[in-house]
Amino acid sequence: MTLDVGPEDELPDWAAAKEFYQKYDPKDVIGRGVSSVVRRCVHRATGHEFAVKIMEVTAERLSPEQLEEVREATRRETHILRQVAGHPHIITLIDSYESSSFMFLVFDLMRKGELFDYLTEKVALSEKETRSIMRSLLEAVSFLHANNIVHRDLKPENILLDDNMQIRLSDFGFSCHLEPGEKLRELCGTPGYLAPEILKCSMDETHPGYGKEVDLWACGVILFTLLAGSPPFWHRRQILMLRMIMEGQYQFSSPEWDDRSSTVKDLISRLLQVDPEARLTAEQALQHPFFERCEGSQPWNLTPRQRFRHRPPGPFPIMGPEEEGDSAAITEDEAVLVLG
Ligand code: ADP
Ligand code: MG
Repeated sequence: MTLDVGPEDELPDWAAAKEFYQKYDPKDVIGRGVSSVVRRCVHRATGHEFAVKIMEVTAERLSPEQLEEVREATRRETHILRQVAGHPHIITLIDSYESSSFMFLVFDLMRKGELFDYLTEKVALSEKETRSIMRSLLEAVSFLHANNIVHRDLKPENILLDDNMQIRLSDFGFSCHLEPGEKLRELCGTPGYLAPEILKCSMDETHPGYGKEVDLWACGVILFTLLAGSPPFWHRRQILMLRMIMEGQYQFSSPEWDDRSSTVKDLISRLLQVDPEARLTAEQALQHPFFERCEGSQPWNLTPRQRFRHRPPGPFPIMGPEEEGDSAAITEDEAVLVLG
């Protein structure tokens, strides 16, 4: 995605960002966030292309308190990005610079842009493609949670695609560390993806707070949206949308859900659990029957009996076959018959 360059997108002045400019040559705008502009840039020494997220932290636009808040938030983002770098489904921070008026974060360039734009173009995805994307996303979330990091802004705009259409999770602007048992209270994220407990907590001082389960709710919203082409919770009056979220009120309506498997609907319903304690964890979600098939080539070389044994134990009922493109797969019902 290439965006038009407006007057507010003037490149940061040379003096303020000398170090960055000496090393990189910034090019066109490829993305835009609430407080940042993202540009393609070229590493002068090698000619390799990267993406740079430029955040303005000047007094002209912000009060001193806001200024310090942005700086602090960006330092936190940078710290977490360094900690998670190297995971195959998380964006890699290559370099970072902080001048008096700008902060620069240099990343791998994700040439195919946002999952959001890809979905808009395709309207809805197949279960097969959704499975591959969601497996990668849940692996990234599982890794973050194992490292006591909660993302808090999972959505298709923050999931980027590389040349091979592999996903990487990005935008750690709202992410933070969370020790086991520790709770958060801050209302942050994107309305349609907010978990019920975040909303309830913001309305009730006696609420115990929320934890990393909020990321799994957002995964449920993403999974639903990829398959339906529209989000599970939507009302043009935002207050009514928020009420739908708090009540966990969504539908698998016709015709878009008619041909979807009961397996994937079951996974969605286990992620969109209003009670965070009842919601699947990332690890549990990865064990769900929805992810059982197409696990590389390995399981397909096994006999039905071996394949059945291969399945890790999970807290899920046996599901029937309804998936498209997986006709070679033995279903668990069949496996039960095979095993008597
Ligand atoms: P914000 O925190 O302001 O939302 P993001 O980090 O989400 O900023 O970046 C804004 C947008 O810029 C993204 O949604 C995406 O379109 C684009 N973008 C960010 N990082 C990259 C990247 N590494 N490669 C390609 N595009 C990117
Ligand atoms: Mg973003």
